[in-house]
Amino acid sequence: MRAPRRIVIAGGGTAGWMAAAALARTLGRAVSVTLVESDAIGTIGVGESTIPPIITFNRLLGINEAEFMAATQATFKLGIQFDGWKGPQDSYFHSFGLTGKDHWAAGFQHFWLDGRTRGNDAPYDDYCLELVAAREGRFAHLPDDRMNYAYQLDSTLYGRFLRRMAEGDGAVRIEGRIERVELDGKSGDIAALVLDDGQRIEGDLFIDCTGFRALLIERALHVGFDDWSHYLPCDAAVAVQTESVRPPVPFTRAIAHESGWQWRIPLQHRAGNGIVYCSRYLDHDVARERLLANVEGTVLTEPNMLRFTTGARRKQWHRNCIAIGLSGGFLEPLESTSIHLIQRAILRLIRLLPGDPVSPHDIAEFNDQQMTDMLQIRDFLILHYKVTERRDTPFWRQCADMEIPESLAHKIALFRETARVFRRNDELFAENSWVQVMLGQGIVPESYHPITARLSDGELAQLLSSVRQNVATTVRGLPPHADYVARFCGAVA
Ligand SMILES: Cc1cc2nc3c(=O)[nH]c(=O)nc-3n(C[C@H](O)[C@H](O)[C@H](O)COP(=O)(O)OP(=O)(O)OC[C@H]3O[C@@H](n4cnc5c(N)ncnc54)[C@H](O)[C@@H]3O)c2cc1C
Repeated sequence: MRAPRRIVIAGGGTAGWMAAAALARTLGRAVSVTLVESDAIGTIGVGESTIPPIITFNRLLGINEAEFMAATQATFKLGIQFDGWKGPQDSYFHSFGLTGKDHWAAGFQHFWLDGRTRGNDAPYDDYCLELVAAREGRFAHLPDDRMNYAYQLDSTLYGRFLRRMAEGDGAVRIEGRIERVELDGKSGDIAALVLDDGQRIEGDLFIDCTGFRALLIERALHVGFDDWSHYLPCDAAVAVQTESVRPPVPFTRAIAHESGWQWRIPLQHRAGNGIVYCSRYLDHDVARERLLANVEGTVLTEPNMLRFTTGARRKQWHRNCIAIGLSGGFLEPLESTSIHLIQRAILRLIRLLPGDPVSPHDIAEFNDQQMTDMLQIRDFLILHYKVTERRDTPFWRQCADMEIPESLAHKIALFRETARVFRRNDELFAENSWVQVMLGQGIVPESYHPITARLSDGELAQLLSSVRQNVATTVRGLPPHADYVARFCGAVA
């Protein structure tokens, strides 16, 4: 089977350069990688909070972690603190890692729930290493990858880092505006990109990384878009960068407001901030003013106003074109999943690298896997809006009253009645994530697995306290996050 010889990537945002770096490094001389981007158009300029699988991506590409973090002014991330989601004054944490110790038949939450009825009232949070470390602002790498983490990074610097890497591995960058996508008259495949200076860039396989514009997959190939804004009604954002006012904490904050939420992402050299909202209930100028009134530290950039529709292209791969990044669809940034979806698509494409001719089964497999990922993440995001005690504004009332997908309704009902959660089909968010968010949003399970009754009061108390103490002792031994970052990967300003 012959690999497509010429891979052309349209767009040089995070998606474009991640794809270029991964393809050039993994496939080497088997293919040529050409990336076209327009400095005049620029990138979206947000996308700074990540989740743990990025570590696998970096390892696969042989990226040195300390160099990568220094080059992108990155900090470590142990999870997200959700403020005001259950009720305006409530706060909870969705952390990476595991909570407590599971039994094969029943997750740790069952033992914790039983423990509460028997007088052990320590919060669920206290049994999770990453969560307690985040709350205490501590971090270190631990043996056997015991600490699960991701990064908070500067998206522009990340793009530059990937570009250096990709070009070092032979990818070629062409500066210019794509004016036209030329289709092959016979096959309907993409034949070439035509730039504003008349250059014609031919390829065998085209990757659409043109962001929300979706120049290839939608404007040229018209695959169609599934609109999910009924479930996730936020459709606008404003982002600004600010000076840091305190040492960076190892977590992102998602602070709910009356018609959406606000993020704070601490980096080494500054903080990233943004407000995400539903334009039906909040005017753009008011959103902008609200953000500026709620950031800490001097504002460093002009507010970046963004509009989006939550949803997905009906096909992520069509003919000889694959959409990766925002061109393929968008799920709002509440759980920092977009860069992850880019990574999944790239690795999936490498695994399913088509021969000549392209097998329609490869395309079908790719589309099915990619859509499954997006639907699973979509359900997890909807959970945060649907399960809330907030009824204080029309936005929150709409969220609480909305119909939700059957798959999510089942998951919520199962947990509410039995405290059970099952991970299906290699789903991104594992049991711990679902349990933390469901408890955090206010679901109190009505029962738990009877197996916990096997333990006497003393045995259960001993189990719970040993896990808690283990976590507390480990966290006490960790250095402050900011000190560790400075030592491990301090960036040169
Ligand atoms: C408000 C908000 C917050 C977000 N926060 C996060 C987060 O915390 N974590 C996360 O994982 N993700 C986040 N994301 C998503 C993340 O920003 C994107 O997934 C990521 O930046 C990838 O974008 P992209 O490369 O697909 O598109 P873009 O960055 O828009 O890049 C598009 C590229 O295409 C080029 N281009 C477009 N048209 C043409 C043309 N005609 N000719 C030549 N070039 C062209 C542009 O110049 C650019 O290089 C967020 C998104 C939004 C909207």
